[in-house]
Amino acid sequence: MKKAEALQRIENLSRELNHYNHKYYVENISEVSDFEYDKRLKELQELEDQFPDLADENSPTKRVGGDITKKFQTVAHEYPMLSLSNTYSEEEIVDWENRVKKLVAGKVEYVCELKYDGVAIGVRYENGKFLQAVTRGDGSQGEDVSTNVKTIRTIPLQLKGDFPEYFEIRGEIFFPLSTFNAINKKREEQGEELFANPRNSASGTLKLQDSKVVADRGLDCYLYGVFGKDLPAETHYDSVLKANRWGFKTPDVDNKYILKTDSIEGIMDFIHFWDEHRVDLPLEIDGVVIKVNSYAQQEELGSTAKSPRWAIAYKFQTEQASAKLEKVTYQVGRTGAVTPVANLSPVALGGTIVQRASLHNQDQIEKLGLHEFDTVYVEKGGEIIPKIVGVDLSCRKDNAKKIEFIEVCPQCKTPLKRFDGEAHHYCPNELGCPPQITGKIIHFISRKAMDIDGIGSETVEQLFNEKLIKNSADLYGLTFDQITSLERMGDKSANNLLAGLKKSKNVPFERVLFALGIRYVGETVAKKLRKHSKI
Ligand code: NAD
Repeated sequence: MKKAEALQRIENLSRELNHYNHKYYVENISEVSDFEYDKRLKELQELEDQFPDLADENSPTKRVGGDITKKFQTVAHEYPMLSLSNTYSEEEIVDWENRVKKLVAGKVEYVCELKYDGVAIGVRYENGKFLQAVTRGDGSQGEDVSTNVKTIRTIPLQLKGDFPEYFEIRGEIFFPLSTFNAINKKREEQGEELFANPRNSASGTLKLQDSKVVADRGLDCYLYGVFGKDLPAETHYDSVLKANRWGFKTPDVDNKYILKTDSIEGIMDFIHFWDEHRVDLPLEIDGVVIKVNSYAQQEELGSTAKSPRWAIAYKFQTEQASAKLEKVTYQVGRTGAVTPVANLSPVALGGTIVQRASLHNQDQIEKLGLHEFDTVYVEKGGEIIPKIVGVDLSCRKDNAKKIEFIEVCPQCKTPLKRFDGEAHHYCPNELGCPPQITGKIIHFISRKAMDIDGIGSETVEQLFNEKLIKNSADLYGLTFDQITSLERMGDKSANNLLAGLKKSKNVPFERVLFALGIRYVGETVAKKLRKHSKI
């Protein structure tokens, strides 16, 4: 490549990568997959290696991607909080290991760890007490998110045992998959937009201004690195084990979340094991990290401005499959929110057969530029519902029609509405649209709402179809004879339901408020309303 051409490409790549960085770190949105991002970063690095005088000192290859939002107080890091150099190639791990052996004196031990896919955090402790929690920021300064971090139960406020007087511990804040999926289920029920993936939503949650909401969401944290002047250990591995005794949730040795080895074979076994077993983990990882164990050798190796030379990440490629889009259908939730769903030709992915993928909303369909019968790429992360990440344009038929979002409700044919600033279309026929009515009643009877025993979603559908109820209040007017007139409803079931209805009259007022399914009134808001209502 000629120099002028290289300059143009370097400028384009830098502009693109800076844009993706801002979206990812500040807005918590991934516009491309990590693999695509890393491919571009690698191309930029190779061009800069080839033409060193064209490399800008602020190039994305030289800077830690920053998350400074100015919503929190900025704090300088005592030890730079760096990124990790990464690779998707085993050969490059072998090269790195050979390089390390040449650069340091003596035998080298390595520690292999999981690469948790969350947000980095540094937490400082003084005399065993939580002092401050700071995000990575631009590597030299981060943001003080102490109030939010204190809500994470696995981050102790008071340590035990023989901890150093002053130190910092670093780790990764994440959503366990079960928590993430539960949050999305709830958001779907409440007609709210779903979170795209656990990493981006953990990062967004950590930067919320209301720590009560943070506490409610249930973040978790693994701590994997201790920094300080007088550490009671000579190696990284021993520090992590000690930190566990001080009360931290550290990578579990028995579960092979962390392994000490002195050979490349040991490193490769760890990589292969987790590439196969990562689907069984309760949280998402995007690879494994290999670190030189001895602190003295780490110091010998040093760091670049962006990443330490004593560590490297091996990243797994997310499994993708291609499938044919058969049709787009639309679901109406209890709040009237309309969600488009892609119905696909069956395809095996991540151990299951995938046939449906959420398209979220109109913007997502437009962003993908989806056409009828397109061949699409599907990915499945930790989310229950797989997602479409791209379209194979080479398979598109010439006369294929663009997918146009529907204009009327698929159930009651009322014209749809889209409110300013909202991503969803809504069916405004709140009192006459069947899935909204039954959806609201199903929400009303649910465990966290009125918790009515003896009734489930099927019975609600039956009662509605038989015209015995048309809203939640009608449940309380049901008679024994009406209930037993339903198919598969005997005397015992009818009595159970009547007893369940009677018992539900005693639930606290905030649960009644929540049960009404008013838009924006979730459990937290309901509690607040009750507090202010003096009822
Ligand atoms: P990184 O996420 O690849 O690696 C560094 C981070 O790994 C650390 O800051 C730490 O938070 C984390 N980590 C997890 N487990 C760890 C462990 N056991 N030990 C040490 N660290 C551990 O690098 P980065 O600088 O945070 O992010 C860059 C990467 O993010 C890119 O390579 C790309 O994959 C992704 N990215 C994607 C987009 C996008 O639009 N899709 C945009 C920007 C960045």
